[in-house]
Amino acid sequence: MSYAYDDANIFARILRGEIPNNTVLETPHTLAFHDIRPQAPVHVLVIPKGRYVNFDHFAAEASDEEIADFSRVAAEVCRVTGVKPGQGGQGYRAISNAGEHGVQEVPHYHLHILGGRILGPMLKRAE
Ligand code: AMP
Repeated sequence: MSYAYDDANIFARILRGEIPNNTVLETPHTLAFHDIRPQAPVHVLVIPKGRYVNFDHFAAEASDEEIADFSRVAAEVCRVTGVKPGQGGQGYRAISNAGEHGVQEVPHYHLHILGGRILGPMLKRAE
């Protein structure tokens, strides 16, 4: 069974132009914008424009064109934000939370690209 998508989620509202965002890049299939509560000097969210709930939904059901476009935008975000390791930047972390155990807040697939400081251990123990 596939996922049910909630059209009322905040990223769907951003995509419909109902609330503003601070755009980094936009293509016909993908939008990248600054996180409203950045957890590092660079904190950009990359989202597909299609109605996908999380990473595995997108990876299983998006078209090759959507997946390729999303990947290229993510790479371009790394370049334009200056975090690409070995190319002037000092690296980044790309993460995507899914579901309850992943502590996903917004049920529209998004990739966090974080950088601009040492990010520490990959996982923190849940409180
Ligand atoms: P997650 O916990 O992976 O679902 O992360 C959702 C992210 O969306 C959080 O880092 C929030 O700060 C971010 N966020 C929520 N609302 C907005 C918004 N209106 N514009 C930009 N980022 C947002």
